[in-house]
Amino acid sequence: MTLANDEFVFSDELPLIDDDCPEQLDFWKILIVDDDQDVHLATKHALQNTDLIGKVPLFLNAYSTADCLKLLSEHSDIAVILLDVVMEAEDSGLQLVGIIRNQLNLKFPRIILRTGQPGYAPELDAVRDYDINDYKTKTELTRNKLFITVLSAIRSYDQLNRMESSRVGLEQIVHGSRELIAETGLQHFASGVIRQLAAILGVNPEGLLCAQSTLNESSAAPDYVIIAAAGRFQSLIQRRLNEIDDSIIRDGLAHCLTHHEHLFAKEYLVLYFPIRDNKHFAVFVKSNKSPNHLNQELLKVFCSNVSVCAENIHLIARLKDFAYFDRLVNLPNRTAFIEAINDCFKSGEADEYCVMQIDIDQFAEINNAFGYNYGDRLLEALAYRLHDNFGKQCLIARISGDAFGMLGKTIDLQTHLIRPCFEKNFRIEDMNHVVPISTGIVNLRDSNPDGQSVLKNASIARKLAKESGLNSDAYYTNDIGFKAKERTHLLHKLLIDFEQGLLFPLFQPQINMYTKRVIGCEALMRWRTKEGEFISPDRFIPLAEKSGLIVPMGLWILRESIKLAQQLEAEGWEDITVSINVSVVQFRMPNFLASVRQCLEESAVNPRLIELEITESVAMMDQSLVEHTLREIRALGISIAIDDFGTGFSCLSYLEGLPVDRVKIDRSFIMTISNDNDEARIADLVIRLSKSLDIRVIAEGVENEFQANRLLSLGCQEAQGYLYAKPMTATDLKSWLQTWVHSHPS
Ligand code: C2E
Ligand code: CA
Ligand code: CA
Repeated sequence: MTLANDEFVFSDELPLIDDDCPEQLDFWKILIVDDDQDVHLATKHALQNTDLIGKVPLFLNAYSTADCLKLLSEHSDIAVILLDVVMEAEDSGLQLVGIIRNQLNLKFPRIILRTGQPGYAPELDAVRDYDINDYKTKTELTRNKLFITVLSAIRSYDQLNRMESSRVGLEQIVHGSRELIAETGLQHFASGVIRQLAAILGVNPEGLLCAQSTLNESSAAPDYVIIAAAGRFQSLIQRRLNEIDDSIIRDGLAHCLTHHEHLFAKEYLVLYFPIRDNKHFAVFVKSNKSPNHLNQELLKVFCSNVSVCAENIHLIARLKDFAYFDRLVNLPNRTAFIEAINDCFKSGEADEYCVMQIDIDQFAEINNAFGYNYGDRLLEALAYRLHDNFGKQCLIARISGDAFGMLGKTIDLQTHLIRPCFEKNFRIEDMNHVVPISTGIVNLRDSNPDGQSVLKNASIARKLAKESGLNSDAYYTNDIGFKAKERTHLLHKLLIDFEQGLLFPLFQPQINMYTKRVIGCEALMRWRTKEGEFISPDRFIPLAEKSGLIVPMGLWILRESIKLAQQLEAEGWEDITVSINVSVVQFRMPNFLASVRQCLEESAVNPRLIELEITESVAMMDQSLVEHTLREIRALGISIAIDDFGTGFSCLSYLEGLPVDRVKIDRSFIMTISNDNDEARIADLVIRLSKSLDIRVIAEGVENEFQANRLLSLGCQEAQGYLYAKPMTATDLKSWLQTWVHSHPS
């Protein structure tokens, strides 16, 4: 049947929705609401297969108000509603319009009212208030007129939609930018860009983002890689640009990145995002909708917005990098490590994991001896070796100066598996170095479930390992944790008690075993708590050293000792030297010398009566600095003794260069001298060495006559020990001196 342009055409049955829905998705949905089936047919035939600005119509048919509402609820994208005014009621159509606009809040569908008779024309108010596009009597609507009316309705629907989508687009840009800023990872950010772009274009997210590879940023020719992809391009992620087979994508992206411009093609577009420092990137998006002017403007806004976001991303990435990465050794840092442990707890698998803290023994000494540069190279080499051996199964981080952390499965992180890695030499600055290592291990199940606690426990275990000598390992146990807590508690008490004057000095006489003259005394700290408990210096001195409290404590006992020296001198005891122990912690303080000097000046004591005892660990510090400080001390008139001689790691010859007056043979070498098992070789060695260097020598811890005689026979005359006297208060010392002189008249 042929159609006259201005005729209605009718056919038979009509479903609610036309089945012969056009193949392509691009159609306008036209809802025909009329209780007269003929009108449906006529409308359909009038408009079928017509091109309505690039799309064809898809008809929805409603025969009642109920039908209409049902279809409206099912289809959100109805472009035009051709609505019969009179259906069930005389004003059904108008009521429906009210519902559509006011209740369903559908503002976009264009409504064309059709009336059977001219008399039913709606009020002008209704036309305005309900945003009705047109009203026509049915007879007015010839095929051509219907076409024109529907076409203009569709145009305005399309325009409204575009305006809306640009509003939504702008909103998306704002929202998207906000989201993108929150995306901290470059990957997330990149896929976010594709997603947002697709949303703005109204297409499925199919695309890829290509940026300069960060791997070899420095190389002359930029190396581009796909860092994010969506849809069917997923498989191209991490591929290099020039390895992509699809020439459209490859050339499009390359063009965009070399010419720094957008590319709009029929099937796709490539957008260019300029970013400082050569971090620019390009996004290829599949889109069969070539963007109109409005959309192009929107896209430009989007691109510049995203570029700003991307700069932030890079900034954040760099900040993160700074915050989480150790540049010296190229490993994650402490913060990153703690986060990783926390993540491990969150994963619920922490029970199978453990953390190992690895620490270079005597790193400070190595630094002093060979220089900081050497120390840095050693750290790098160690980091490299750890990563090389265990990087696959463990997370390795540098958690403090010379300490590394490893987080891994307990079966992988056992000491017998880790140890061999350190047995080989480290070759640094053409020197071979075997590096002694201490480790502390914590099973995560034994720890509070947070990274900080785990690290604390690992370091408690590691310290324990250190105490048992070089190259030791220790596991953290609850018992160890308890003891560590106890120590913290004790330190707290020490702090308070020192403030409150509960510490006091004792003095232990030193005598010349040959002449029996008292030559001096050593000041020793004592602590009696408020509860009357005595805490041994072997317990509280290390705590005071670790916390730095030893510095004021050391000054205090120096002042007490000076006081005693002055009193003894005033009471006529000439030549009784008071020796004061100086901790390495004090010695390292830059103002140590100044504080000693000040104590001398305050008191006007004869500096000849003061001796400072330093341990070998002091002498192990930077040789020239130690020498300088010792010379300055001696220049003040104070003499210097090396305490616990022979227990440290120094070679005996280091004594030669040091300005030292006296050497104290450690008690452990005196203890071995006894009638049944006479072992005096080290004492003998130290005595000889001192003699050859013209340094005085004193034996400490002399407890019996046998030892005294043996030492005398070896040539050591000076001694301190229970054989003569235990440490005592200044008052007791004064009366002890009286007694001693009476029983040993010279
Ligand atoms: P030290 O400097 O080696 O002190 C000698 C230690 O040997 C003292 O222990 C002393 O009481 C003890 N002693 C002396 N003669 C004998 C003996 O015949 N037999 C035995 N078994 N022991 C003897 P004390 O007072 O417990 O001090 C222990 C350590 O605490 C000191 O070892 C020293 O390293 C440190 N210390 C004590 N007072 C101070 C101080 O004022 N400042 C610093 N920095 N350290 C101190
Ligand atoms: Ca001492
Ligand atoms: Ca000693």
